[in-house]
Amino acid sequence: MSKSIEDRIADHARHLGFDAIGFCDASLPEEARTRLRQFVEDGRHGTMSWMEQRIEQRGDPKALWPEVRSVISLGLSYAPEADPAETLDQPDTGTISVYARHRDYHDVLKGMLKHLAQFVVRQDVGGDGTQVKVFVDTAPVMEKPLAEQAQLGWQGKHTNVVSRIHGSWLLLGEIYTTLELTPSPPRAGSCGSCTRCLTACPTDAFPRPYALDARRCIAYLTIEHDGPIPVEFRKAMGNRIYGCDDCLNACPWNRFAATSRHMKLQPRADLMAPRLDDLARLDDAGFRSFFSGSPIKRIGRNRFVRNVLIALGNSGNRAHLPLVTHLTQDESPIVADAAAWAQTELQEAASNE
Ligand code: SF4
Ligand code: SF4
Repeated sequence: MSKSIEDRIADHARHLGFDAIGFCDASLPEEARTRLRQFVEDGRHGTMSWMEQRIEQRGDPKALWPEVRSVISLGLSYAPEADPAETLDQPDTGTISVYARHRDYHDVLKGMLKHLAQFVVRQDVGGDGTQVKVFVDTAPVMEKPLAEQAQLGWQGKHTNVVSRIHGSWLLLGEIYTTLELTPSPPRAGSCGSCTRCLTACPTDAFPRPYALDARRCIAYLTIEHDGPIPVEFRKAMGNRIYGCDDCLNACPWNRFAATSRHMKLQPRADLMAPRLDDLARLDDAGFRSFFSGSPIKRIGRNRFVRNVLIALGNSGNRAHLPLVTHLTQDESPIVADAAAWAQTELQEAASNE
């Protein structure tokens, strides 16, 4: 018996290196749209105004592309080898979110998606007139509810996708197509009574299960937020200088996840436990060169050094005082503000010794 088109696409996706693949109709349940509307209406998206601007397209694939009939949802495992929390108690080093320790995954995933899309439109696969569009976290696409519909896993209480096979460590991408594909059959899995991710959050960013207040989330504050980080969250940041993995890392389903096998997603040794004082000394050119090819480059030197200074303030190590004091004169107001805060913290720590 010849293979179905879905099986052929799935086989090719695995051949390209994808770890998870599923198919669903190009529509989202009302529940997903309601959650999105609520998130924006409550202002929980903070300054991510792009979430408001294309909300209709985000909530409905057909509003983005009227011809789309099906979605192919794809996952790439980035499960780390070592415990990502290992550096959280090393105050002179910075902790960088697992996904940012290696090459920018958008580049890796986009290349793989384009190869798969070329396969889908082939004459002997999709056939005449088949059209596709590929997305990786850049367009108004609700990738997590789509991944859930395509049976890659379920949206956990921490709001990210949880897979029975890959835990909370899946990077997601989508191919929208004009093909009518058979949706993947339902797979069991749920959070049940577990609440580990909710209690693991250092800043209480979950007002309730399945709802995140980005304005309280360290990942948002250190990456998306442009101004000074609100003082109330600075101590809780500890040495997290780019993103936060605490809720993902708390998920018990991670114990089934095999370490990512992708060469391009292997961590850079110098981003596993970088010294905070080295990072704080980076000027604009040094920052761009050090983070070339890394997603961290996108936030720019000032936002990054702001984060590093808060971690230095939390280090309790007064040996950092001269460096921090020097940076209180920085040209960037957000760097100078974070440096002044760190200076006070370190002076207090020194007077308590
Ligand atoms: S990423 Fe960190 S701060 Fe954000 S919700 Fe998860 S645990 Fe909380
Ligand atoms: S930690 Fe528990 S509640 Fe949170 S996503 Fe994982 S299984 Fe669900």
